[in-house]
Amino acid sequence: MSSSKYDLAIVGAGPAGAALAIRSARSGLRVVVIDSAEFPRQKVCGEYLAPAAWTLLEQLGLDELRTLARPLPVLRLAVDDATSVVTSFPDDREAPRALSRHTLDARLVRAARDAGAEVLCGRRVRRIIVEEGRARSVECADLSERGAGVRIAAKLIVAADGRRSVVVRDTGRVVRRDLGLIGFKRHVHAYATSQAVAEIAMHALPGGYLGTCPTEDGALNFCGVIPRRLFKAEHGDIAAALRKWLTRYPNLQLASESKADGPWLSMPDVATQRARPTTAGVLYVGDAAGTIEPLTGQGMTMALAGARLASRYIDRFGPDGIKSRVQVEYDAEWNATFGRAIRTADWFGRLLRRPSVLKAMLIAGRPVAPLTEFMFRAARRRTVTIDE
Ligand SMILES: Cc1cc2nc3c(=O)[nH]c(=O)nc-3n(C[C@H](O)[C@H](O)[C@H](O)COP(=O)(O)OP(=O)(O)OC[C@H]3O[C@@H](n4cnc5c(N)ncnc54)[C@H](O)[C@@H]3O)c2cc1C
Repeated sequence: MSSSKYDLAIVGAGPAGAALAIRSARSGLRVVVIDSAEFPRQKVCGEYLAPAAWTLLEQLGLDELRTLARPLPVLRLAVDDATSVVTSFPDDREAPRALSRHTLDARLVRAARDAGAEVLCGRRVRRIIVEEGRARSVECADLSERGAGVRIAAKLIVAADGRRSVVVRDTGRVVRRDLGLIGFKRHVHAYATSQAVAEIAMHALPGGYLGTCPTEDGALNFCGVIPRRLFKAEHGDIAAALRKWLTRYPNLQLASESKADGPWLSMPDVATQRARPTTAGVLYVGDAAGTIEPLTGQGMTMALAGARLASRYIDRFGPDGIKSRVQVEYDAEWNATFGRAIRTADWFGRLLRRPSVLKAMLIAGRPVAPLTEFMFRAARRRTVTIDE
């Protein structure tokens, strides 16, 4: 394949990359999106989306996804099988909804193609070529990784390639706080357990946590973050690690061993991180720009809202007008939009990883209100706020 000239080369076709591709292609830009995955595919994710995310999906014209998704009118925070607090949403539109990444990501990619973007799947971006201080092209290969690689030139290169972004590696710097956690996920068919009800349940665990919610096909998504040392002690066998880790939740132990849709998926080195470019001609969106504590249900909202923010900058300055002054302005607006949510989620994540502290709070009748209030706000629209 010969190299081509595009306005935008977006690396990554997850929610951030696909949403930006849809917006930019509809604005008349020539867009190419490159992803190493083939869609549909499963991905480690709690798979519930806050109401703000649904509004953003509707703005992309994907209203039908709301009807596919599973409404989750109840939020449960548990410290063991016998002790939990519950918050419910009287208004259906205020409730979060679950939709598998298998369905969501494939639908977003299809919408990007329909909007006119060229989407290249099964191609891994190896590196970004920088000339005279500006990112000029991406070098990618098919998954066999053989051959010299193909260069694709574009006026602007967008990092939408997630937590381990190659674009950020080659064009910016990242501040990372390693949480010592491994992400894991599997869809199980645990109809016999109480977990199969229409609720998001967050289970606090020593050093990590686990979220469960039913997805659109009735399977229960079983997703969490486990301390790396437990994972290593069981030689990477998630089932064995969960058997030991879930002793305070016998029901969950059972659910984890029920019939499943596929193998356990894992994600190494879950960290909170924030990246900033040091090279002109790049913008960062989604997890590549910055992450939020997993399972607070805000990551995909940030990805979709971040794509909207980036598309406004691209419309305003043009793909070749993204110079360092514009990047600094974009970065400040990104912080103003997401910074508070990230800090609050950080606090919530720390508490979730200390079930004994949480349990003591519950038993002492101590103010769990701030906690449930956070869950409520996180699941509604007040954590990551978007103007509609
Ligand atoms: C354990 C866990 C649970 C979570 N649960 C939730 C939840 O319930 N709700 C929620 O809203 N958020 C959740 N999140 C966060 C959410 O998954 C992310 O914030 C979201 O996926 C970010 O979207 P993105 O498009 O930025 O990146 P991604 O979804 O990671 O997409 C990046 C894409 O880039 C591609 N890619 C990567 N490298 C390359 C390369 N070199 N070349 C080509 N392609 C490449 C990948 O294949 C991928 O498709 C969770 C995160 C974790 C870790």
